[in-house]
Amino acid sequence: MKIVQKFGGTSVADIPKIRSAANKVKSEVDKGNKVIVVVSAMAGVTNQLVGYCKDFPSSYNLREYDVVVSAGEQITSGLMSIALQDLNISSISLLGWQIPILANDAHAKALIDSIDTSKILSHLDRGEVVVVPGFQGVNKKNDIVTLGRGGSDITAVAIAASVDANYCDIYTDVDGVYTSDPRIVKNARKIDKITYEEMLEMASLGAKVLQTRSVELAMKFNVSLRVLSSFSGAPGTLICSEEKVVEKEIVSGIAHSMDEAKITLVSVEDRPGIAASIFHTLSEYNINVDMIVQNVSEDGSTDLTFTVSKHELLSAKNAVENNQEIKWRKLLIDDDVSKVSVVGVGMKSHAGVAKTMFKALAEKNINIEVISTSEIKVSVLIKAAFTKEALVCLHKAFDLDQ
Ligand code: ADP
Ligand code: ASP
Ligand code: MG
Repeated sequence: MKIVQKFGGTSVADIPKIRSAANKVKSEVDKGNKVIVVVSAMAGVTNQLVGYCKDFPSSYNLREYDVVVSAGEQITSGLMSIALQDLNISSISLLGWQIPILANDAHAKALIDSIDTSKILSHLDRGEVVVVPGFQGVNKKNDIVTLGRGGSDITAVAIAASVDANYCDIYTDVDGVYTSDPRIVKNARKIDKITYEEMLEMASLGAKVLQTRSVELAMKFNVSLRVLSSFSGAPGTLICSEEKVVEKEIVSGIAHSMDEAKITLVSVEDRPGIAASIFHTLSEYNINVDMIVQNVSEDGSTDLTFTVSKHELLSAKNAVENNQEIKWRKLLIDDDVSKVSVVGVGMKSHAGVAKTMFKALAEKNINIEVISTSEIKVSVLIKAAFTKEALVCLHKAFDLDQ
């Protein structure tokens, strides 16, 4: 079999952990498998590198930012290869530009265009383990680009898809995908199998155990993705297509995101074209809008509320304030909010999820500020201080407790 094994930052945080990850690789090699290892930077290193760039007061050049922040993975790929050789396993590290992993020009959030698998495959055929640094690629100009935070998961899945690997195993500091973040909800349960669709919602709604785009890619190319522990041998979670999940839960998980901020325009004129104008401006500033609510109109005016990422709050406020076409009475901002979401494919065919969710929150006196839904999720915006209480009570209300 061909296997991709990806180790996250906490799994390669120091030399003993790199040695122990190398032993996980050895056990696959010993079974006769061909292995490609993808590594993150040591825990905390990427944050430190980002911090160095942010120390410069003027806005820094993103080309150079990518040169700096991609360095963490270069170090761990070399160290992992040394650790493997120390276990008498032949191995070679290949950096993004050496493979090459070709990506577009969007520095700091580049998308992979293609991966040339020839070098990887020829080293595998020679019986070597190939170690690849995650998170990095190279654009057409031969400049280093990075794939966005958490991007090593994307590298792993993209390589697995391009070499047609049997499994893409994501080794991390928890032993699988849980019904809710196990660090917050003590009664969270490990999920044996979850559909791509549900995992995609969970990830995009804040469950950072897998990077959202990596799940998207896995779904597109039908990669068998597993989440496993670096520190135990426990069976993990398989992320797969819907047919392979026999017991479909109505709600399979509860995710949360603290990266939320809310803008309300009070008494904005209510006529055709106003929403178009506001959201056009926001898109011109490249700001992603998530939830939107508009109240019923009274006396020709209405209140419009929408949410954005915390770090985009100020630019969103600027964008709206600079739009001369729209008038409002007050502009309110609030970044002391969080989003809590229940996710499950079973919702497609079962009614009552929203009712159960709102009732459970009401019983805890938690006020809902904004609601949004899709076919397989219901999300609510609440005060940040109530996040843990909301997760715990919803977990119980949907019978997910251990
Ligand atoms: P890595 O450094 O290995 O990429 P991450 O920190 O990105 O690891 O992801 C693992 C973390 O994801 C866990 O420590 C856990 O706190 C968090 N997490 C959030 N939601 C979930 C969930 N539903 N199931 C498992 N882990 C979750
Ligand atoms: N090291 C990068 C980050 O911290 C990529 C990753 O770990 O996935 O975002
Ligand atoms: Mg991660």
